[in-house]
Amino acid sequence: MAMNFTTFTNIIDGKATTTAETRYSINPSTQEPNPPVPVSTKQDLDAAVDAARRASKGWAKTSWEERKDALLKFVDAVLERKTEFAGLLTREQGKPLSFAIWEVEAVGRQIAALAGIKLEDEVLLDEDGRKVIKRYVPLGVGGAIVPWNFPVVLMMFKISHAVLTGNTIVCKPSPFTPYTGLKLVELAQQFFPPGVVNVLSGDDNLGPWMTAHPGIDKISFTGSSATGKKVMESCSRTLKRLTLELGGKDPAIILPDVDVATVATQIAFYSFFNSGQICIATKRIYVHSSIAKEFVRALVVAAKNLKVGDGLDKGVFMGPVNNSMQYEKVMGFMEDVKKGNGEIVLGGDDAARFRYKPEDKGGKSGFFIDPTIVFNPEEGSRIMKEEPFGPILPVVTWEDEEEVIRRANDSELGLGASVWGKDVERAERIARRIEAGSVWVNEHFAGLAVAPFGGWKGSGIGVENGKEGLVGWCNLQSLYVRREVKSVL
Ligand code: NAD
Repeated sequence: MAMNFTTFTNIIDGKATTTAETRYSINPSTQEPNPPVPVSTKQDLDAAVDAARRASKGWAKTSWEERKDALLKFVDAVLERKTEFAGLLTREQGKPLSFAIWEVEAVGRQIAALAGIKLEDEVLLDEDGRKVIKRYVPLGVGGAIVPWNFPVVLMMFKISHAVLTGNTIVCKPSPFTPYTGLKLVELAQQFFPPGVVNVLSGDDNLGPWMTAHPGIDKISFTGSSATGKKVMESCSRTLKRLTLELGGKDPAIILPDVDVATVATQIAFYSFFNSGQICIATKRIYVHSSIAKEFVRALVVAAKNLKVGDGLDKGVFMGPVNNSMQYEKVMGFMEDVKKGNGEIVLGGDDAARFRYKPEDKGGKSGFFIDPTIVFNPEEGSRIMKEEPFGPILPVVTWEDEEEVIRRANDSELGLGASVWGKDVERAERIARRIEAGSVWVNEHFAGLAVAPFGGWKGSGIGVENGKEGLVGWCNLQSLYVRREVKSVL
């Protein structure tokens, strides 16, 4: 069925609905306004939650196969429109078109794998006229709150978990990137009954209204650790179930035996892909002191080769950072580094090719920052401790294995990490001691939908993906069935 990619509405109970007030986000490459989107009111949220609640009764009774079938048909329909979704994604998020296509295609690959997992009743005991069964019962209505860095794949994951497990859902995209999320849910209406998948766009009020809403049973939140704490506090008042996928400060440990040029190129990719705006980007590099100089030189060469520009231009590897707030945040890290916290070996002041000024709105320039590499900042400096979520990368040296493990673990966050070396046994030995939800050897952020993904410490609570991710959308029930009443006295 034809769909336009130019007008945007909420979807409540299967119907497109508009709001009195609208807003828009801007294209981060040009600062030109994107089209208007709704600003939902509390009443819109009530209507969406009511619709999801009504639909949940019937949806929970459908079979796993029926739900999987609907989900996979929906995913196919998304893939059929991948060019349109990817173009929209580049205009709202800034990422290069080729990576926007990759993000949409990732939806297909990952969700097909996730849908291969099935939660079924498990008989734990069956003897002497008595059965004990473990059941996975849908929670009811979920709320999905999504950030702006991967608006397509993250929203699709949340929808997939919810619908596969027999829940209904109300989705909220980020106000910076509302467009693809609204269109995904519009398309979903062709495959799910009204009310099963709803979406609302809004301003900064909508997220807190959702976390406080008594009609929502679970919040699946992806975003910063600071917001995650607020979400958890608000959910506690209604004892909502909660998954928090939060920030990261992933260390990469480089052993002395690596092939320097190859690994430096990989690290440049994993640090600057999506302009560094990835929860599991490599964000602290620990390179062995014996190869440090050579490694940094190779990293600078690799990073210099990464073309920065409008995501719609050919050959671009890094688009702009997504918004003015993020731009200022990254520039704040630059200021801190300039105070003597390390040697800027690439980028720095020159990296900010356009200083954002509010009066430039609608101008022909965007939030571009070239890759910046800082060598040997102090261990306790902001760039070593906090997540810039932008293209600025610290590299430090290490000598002793115990010491580097301690330093890698000395973080409030624990999302991902990687260890690089030809001595794979040594690399794995180190990897096993890293405090993080995902640890890779000789790669980084490769994902597998059947593997649980989540953070330790301040990086989150609960997981998405894998059987455990699906279980997070269920009430567990132990059902004890005895054929005949047995005397207890
Ligand atoms: P953010 O926390 O500012 O916003 C995320 C979402 O929460 C947005 O939709 C926003 O509108 C909403 N929100 C804001 N305040 C809220 C509140 N008080 N209550 C409810 N909702 C609220 O994050 P961001 O800047 O959009 O995204 C960047 C962050 O997300 C980074 O820290 C990154 O590491 C993290 N992230 C984590 C993962 C993961 O899987 N662990 C994936 C992607 C991004």
